[in-house]
Amino acid sequence: MISLEGVRKAYGSRRVLEGVSLSLTPGRITGLVGPNGSGKTTLIKLILGLARPDAGRMLFDGVPFDADGLYRARIGYAPQSPRLPDHLAVGELFAMLRALRPGAAVDEAMLESFGLRAEWGTAVGKLSGGWRQKLANACAFLFSPDVLILDEPTAGLDPVASGLLKSALRKARADGRTILISSHILVELEEFADDVAFLNDGALRFAGPIESLLKETGTRRLEPAVAALLSGLKVV
Ligand code: ADP
Repeated sequence: MISLEGVRKAYGSRRVLEGVSLSLTPGRITGLVGPNGSGKTTLIKLILGLARPDAGRMLFDGVPFDADGLYRARIGYAPQSPRLPDHLAVGELFAMLRALRPGAAVDEAMLESFGLRAEWGTAVGKLSGGWRQKLANACAFLFSPDVLILDEPTAGLDPVASGLLKSALRKARADGRTILISSHILVELEEFADDVAFLNDGALRFAGPIESLLKETGTRRLEPAVAALLSGLKVV
């Protein structure tokens, strides 16, 4: 569904992405991992159309990204530190989002399953960090988008909320959606991700099924596998 071919991006003289080629497949969850500063956020921004590549091609269902901006409506995104309208109550925020997309079907069951009704009347600005994250995640899922991009979605979530998110993700995968999750919590990623894309210094050092990474690095868990990639012992 989404493919990047030889994508490059620099900010001034700082080369941030150096020829990244990556395919995100429907019905699979891809974990985007890499050290701080490796280019993960930049890669996400390019996919969201918030920044433009200097070189390379980005295709959505085979159509170049910049042919029209319509593809963006098919992506649900939850940023890591969501900026939300603090003065609105949770219920008002969802009412506003619905009003922005008249006619678009809302995933009501998801709204219920995220347990947001408990804080429906609370001002967003008064929510705890974990609740804000929960809210941002729910906003990403709201219109059942074909593509979900979540940046550190479990950060700050309690185990119950984290479990609810994981089941929502599994359902989204079963529905054939394309899912990209940036995370540092590798033990968690290996629980539900199918593929891993490992960025280091702006280059993709590995992209493919987690099992292949484990096999190629001779490890049984994601954490030592990524450590092996980082140490340069088994760069594939
Ligand atoms: P990550 O999300 O993996 O931590 P980022 O994509 O945020 O990495 O950043 C990669 C590199 O690009 C960093 O060195 C960062 O300082 C630089 N960078 C990111 N955005 C900008 C920007 N708007 N202007 C200048 N440099 C940037």
